[in-house]
Amino acid sequence: MEKQYGNIPKLGFGLMRLPMNGGDVDIDQTKQMVDMFLEAGFTYFDTAYGYLEGKSEAAVKEALVNRYPRDRFLLATKLPAWDGVKDAEEAKAMFETSLERTGAGYFDFYLLHNLGEHRTQAFDDFGIWEFLAEKKAQGLIRNLGFSFHDKADLLDEILTAHPEMDFVQLQINYADWDNPTIESRLCYETARKHGKEIIIMEPVKGGNLAVLPEKLEDIFKAVNPDASVSSWAIRYAASLEGIITVLSGMSDISQMKDNLSYMKEFKPLSEEEREAVQKVQKALSKIPTVPCTACAYCMKGCPENIAIYGTFQAVNMLNIYGNMESASGSYTWNTEGHGWNKASECIECGKCEEVCPQHIHIREELKKAAGIFEA
Ligand code: SF4
Ligand code: SF4
Repeated sequence: MEKQYGNIPKLGFGLMRLPMNGGDVDIDQTKQMVDMFLEAGFTYFDTAYGYLEGKSEAAVKEALVNRYPRDRFLLATKLPAWDGVKDAEEAKAMFETSLERTGAGYFDFYLLHNLGEHRTQAFDDFGIWEFLAEKKAQGLIRNLGFSFHDKADLLDEILTAHPEMDFVQLQINYADWDNPTIESRLCYETARKHGKEIIIMEPVKGGNLAVLPEKLEDIFKAVNPDASVSSWAIRYAASLEGIITVLSGMSDISQMKDNLSYMKEFKPLSEEEREAVQKVQKALSKIPTVPCTACAYCMKGCPENIAIYGTFQAVNMLNIYGNMESASGSYTWNTEGHGWNKASECIECGKCEEVCPQHIHIREELKKAAGIFEA
């Protein structure tokens, strides 16, 4: 039986890319963003055990939980049982750590983080499905689901094996709707077939749909000259049927302001707007890019500290805009400028490819990048 989440506003505050001050979260700015978000009538906050190495959950406590009544907001976090965890005890302890760090008392939404490929096995091996069902029965979890970064067939298998899941969280954006690597549309249809409502993540494709080549931006501007490019991506996602909310990973006040400006009184895309998105989808599908969302999962285990997603950002900038000077500057800044190593220093161990939710052939792409930027 499908759960009904119709009263949740369609914009969620993703806390993965919070504003930083050196190595710490900029709490003052985060507090202001939290205030603006709640003031505008939104309620959903999304963090994870691993975001910013635990600093995101700690920031939730400081900027949100300690400052607002518990019934004023909905809080989601996630358990990554596959992330270097040695046994069931350690995996289960992550739940308690998240409760302590956030001080939230309970979680409105709790997710098994990033199911897919070999990662699903850890949740089975450590009995996490049963463990979280117990937590739900104890009232510590109100809605239980999982985030997913793999193909639709596997999603179908998991939802068949676990009909008790209340919801799913999927990466959906207009550029990847028919992308055979990401399968946004197929995953969406699979979740709906199982009667699940969906939380959308990465609607702006890790920022890639915030700025488009001028010709493509013109397509949007012809329909609405004042709308930001990101607004099209977020409204596209929020216009789909069966959506609980759309997460936007906001990193500063200006992004918050922009998101609130069009989501406060959300209107689904009109027919004319839908046609404009279709034109942009078509044009984008013709530009070859590396489908990296800058999640950084790959970089955590890289023995050579390669600037993997920074490299792909530079490659994509070159592919989309064709500006070598600017792409090359971006490459230097994303590697040396941030203390990371260059693509040519990759030793091809393949660890990164085991965890990449986008299934990118990272080693091959790094070789190409080294040829472009380091030749
Ligand atoms: S293959 Fe290269 S980039 Fe990937 S983890 Fe190994 S050294 Fe790092
Ligand atoms: S290469 Fe894959 S794992 Fe690494 S940042 Fe990009 S999408 Fe994430």
